[in-house]
Amino acid sequence: MRSWELWSIPPVLLSYVLAVDGLALAAPLLAYGVDPIGSVDLVRFAVLAVGSAIHIEAARGIEKLRELAAEGLPYVNLKGMWTFAGVLLLPPPLAFALIVTTYLHSWLRLNRVRAYRLIFTTATIVLGSAAAALVLQALLPGGYLGEPYGPVGLAVLVLAGLAYWFVNYGLVIGAVLLSSPETTAREMVGRLTDHFIGLGSLGLGAVTAILLIAQPWMSPLLLVPVLGLQYGLLAGQFQTAARTDTKTGLVNAAFWHEMASKELERATSTNSPVSVLYVDLDFFKPINDTHGHDAGDKVLQTVAAELQQVLQAVAAELQRATRSDDLVGRLGGEEFAVLLPSTSPADAAEIAERIRRRVEGLSVRVNSKAGQSAVIDNLTCSVGVATFPDAASTLELLVQAADEAQYAAKDAGRNRIVVAPTAAPQEG
Ligand code: GH3
Ligand code: MG
Ligand code: MG
Repeated sequence: MRSWELWSIPPVLLSYVLAVDGLALAAPLLAYGVDPIGSVDLVRFAVLAVGSAIHIEAARGIEKLRELAAEGLPYVNLKGMWTFAGVLLLPPPLAFALIVTTYLHSWLRLNRVRAYRLIFTTATIVLGSAAAALVLQALLPGGYLGEPYGPVGLAVLVLAGLAYWFVNYGLVIGAVLLSSPETTAREMVGRLTDHFIGLGSLGLGAVTAILLIAQPWMSPLLLVPVLGLQYGLLAGQFQTAARTDTKTGLVNAAFWHEMASKELERATSTNSPVSVLYVDLDFFKPINDTHGHDAGDKVLQTVAAELQQVLQAVAAELQRATRSDDLVGRLGGEEFAVLLPSTSPADAAEIAERIRRRVEGLSVRVNSKAGQSAVIDNLTCSVGVATFPDAASTLELLVQAADEAQYAAKDAGRNRIVVAPTAAPQEG
């Protein structure tokens, strides 16, 4: 999706994108019958434009990373604060001008997606704003916020915000669906926290508009919450993205190692064991060769979910509130590592055996190469088990011992578990 060229995208999607762009060009017609632009409007426009520019510059580093991490899927940003304030406060031509300057600025300073995508995104915001402006024009005298309106004003603001949000997001989802029909509903709707953040930015937009009317000199104060959100919430969100393996949703190898090494430190001070399972799928390459890489990916996702379920079931049986410290990561390819804190070799072997049985019992329906569906039900895995400090004295050696045990399981015929031998005690 990131490599779209406008004229090489599918015709249906192209028509959709051009229709949205065209419709957005018609949005300034909403200005018809609205009072002419006055000097107060220009001052407010300038304040919002400067606020938006400061925000974009201050948030630039983190936004670049977030845009990359989103991999082409829609992701939320806080720019709605300025554009929505503009809709509430400014005559439509100025409100649309604010959207264009804001998005153009951010495009120039961030990763520079293709120009037609910038135009499309801007068009969806313009149309969302047009929907909000229509709500305001229908329900408020004058067509935009200007004076106190009481409880009705509040209801109108909420309606306008919802109109902005639904139109904008709906148009984006339309494009995602047309470009990748296989996008799951979950990916499409996105994270709930994203919606809270997005709606929060509209709420801040409403407050910005009100403040600009009532106490314009106080408006710089708004940079405090918006930059706070940017650094607090969105930076945290990026960190989550950075430690996640996108294919399976498990943690990635780097994060797994980081957590495992912390766990080993803790175990050293409390003198408790830590076990590691190294899980490698048997004969995975033939699955790719027979059914295609996408089918292989689906198998990886299913196995990943299964590993997590086994850990949850174990936690439930041991009646621990959680074994949230158990951590399953994807080390790469079709290899997974499970970290089991405070788990003896015998318990770890039992968990490994359950994992082996569960993988053996899986049947995964995949779309095979030629488009027909197939069921993969001959899946098995080999598991190596190693426990600190019995089998190894460092994380590196522990993972290596588990990997070697996994190799021994392969050699012994696959679809089995092998527990690493106790290492000879170290000198000193
Ligand atoms: P065995 O482990 O039983 O010895 O046989 P294997 O076929 O699983 O052998 P190996 O572990 O060497 O092969 C791993 C294969 O996994 C190679 C590659 O085609 C495939 N693979 C690695 N990463 C991915 C991935 O992200 N997606 C898919 N679909 N396949 C992958
Ligand atoms: Mg392998
Ligand atoms: Mg393998």
